[in-house]
Parts: sequence; C-alpha cells; structure tokens
Amino acid sequence: MLTVAEVFGPTLQGEGPSVGRRCAFVRLGGCNLDCSWCDTPYTWDWQRFRPDEELRRVDAAAVTETVEAMGVDMLVITGGEPLLQARALLPLLTAAAERRWRVEVETNGTVSPTPQLVPLVTAWNVSPKLANSGVAEAERIRPAALAALRATGRAVFKFVVTGAGDLDEVASLAAAHRLAPVYVMPEGTTAEVVLSPHPAAPHPPLGRRPRALNVRREETPRRGPLPPARDRWCGSGAAGHIGRTPPPHTAEDQYLAGRL
Ligand code: SF4
Repeated sequence: MLTVAEVFGPTLQGEGPSVGRRCAFVRLGGCNLDCSWCDTPYTWDWQRFRPDEELRRVDAAAVTETVEAMGVDMLVITGGEPLLQARALLPLLTAAAERRWRVEVETNGTVSPTPQLVPLVTAWNVSPKLANSGVAEAERIRPAALAALRATGRAVFKFVVTGAGDLDEVASLAAAHRLAPVYVMPEGTTAEVVLSPHPAAPHPPLGRRPRALNVRREETPRRGPLPPARDRWCGSGAAGHIGRTPPPHTAEDQYLAGRL
C-alpha cells in the first residue's frame, strides 16, 4: 500500500527535460527534510496539518486505475520524498512499465534508489536542497545517494535558487558530486512571483511564453474540490483522481486561457 497525498491529472510536467509534457502526478506522503520554503508541507508537516486528513493508504491497483482513466503515457511520482516508499512503489511502477508509460521520479536526492526500482524509472528528477532551505547540510546532501542517482545514467539535477548568491553553491555542489546535467530554477510560489523580475535572473520576464510552467510546476495548487478534470490539450473527458485536488484557477489554467 502506498501512502498518498494526491493523484491528479491529466496535467503538464512543469520542470526538467520533459517540461510541457502531458502526464499524471502521484504525490506521496512523508518527507525526511523540512525545507523552510516547502510548498507541499501538507505531505509531512504534522505541526500544521493532520495526516488523517491529508494522506490516505491506497493500493497500486487503485492508483493505476485512476491514472489509466486519465489517458496519459507519462507518470510523475513526487512527494514529499517518494523514495521513502521504495518498496511500496514497486507494484505501481511495474504496472506502469507493463503499460509502457514513461515514469519520472522527483526526489530530494538524499535516499538511494533500490536496485529493483532503477530499471522501472525512465528519469530521475533530483532536487538537492541548498542552504536556502534552512536544512543542515549533513541532512540535505548525502553523497552516497547522489552518487547512486547519478549512476543510473538517467538523472538530472535541479536546484531552487532564491538569488544570484545561490549559484556559487550550485556550482560547488555540482563539481563536488559530479552532477550533470544541472537545472537552475528560481523560487516562485505564485504566478505573480514567477512572472515578476527575479533577482537572480539576468533578463526581464518572458511575458506570455510558457516560462510560468517550467519555472515551478509545484505552484499548481492542490487543495479544494475537484474541478472537472479535463484534458485541456485534447478535450477528452473527465478523469479520476485521488486526494485533494486543484481548484479551477491554477497557473496552468490561467496560462492556457491566455491570462499569463
Ligand atoms: S524535500 Fe521537498 S517535500 Fe521535502 S520538505 Fe523539502 S521541498 Fe518539501
């Protein structure tokens, strides 16, 4: 059984090499870090949220069925920290492999993937945390886990930066742990922030280009009742979902409606 915060889609991958690709998301509960700017604290922060309200135990077959109803060929496993549930993920990723879905796992890079999981994952989107997370370096940088993810040959490394000063830290970590390719993503928790000039950005905002989607996919809200879950690209019918799901005015909705 998986401990799940939410399953939603069809939607768009908002980061990494597959940005803009149509997919489903499975967000798992639990995390081993406590980043100060975390935008999914409802998956792990039990000082502020109640696990009995935010999480549910779901078997792989139910998740697979829900994703299948979305008519996607790509599945993104995110969290929280999904690799804390490596064993429970096996049936779901096996089902995904049987259906030839592309599978991406988003991880904070502190947990080594199990040998059983590695062949089932198409791409690892690894997001090691910087000092700006407020997490002690010994907790957020685990050399063995980074090496194991790098060794898969299918990992990309993404850093969230809050200012130009973070770039030296990114370069230092990338060199020390031989991380490549590296993606740098400005922090942005709302559409307004994402579209405003960023202190770390050398250029002005890109207006209506799809930057809003690739800067920060996590801004996609996830609370409130489910709007009709339509495939906004192809106009197909409603899909299933598990957990709390986005309100109708997500950044993606606004972008696709031409308001961003
Ligand atoms: S690793 Fe990710 S989910 Fe965990 S606290 Fe940090 S930002 Fe949040």
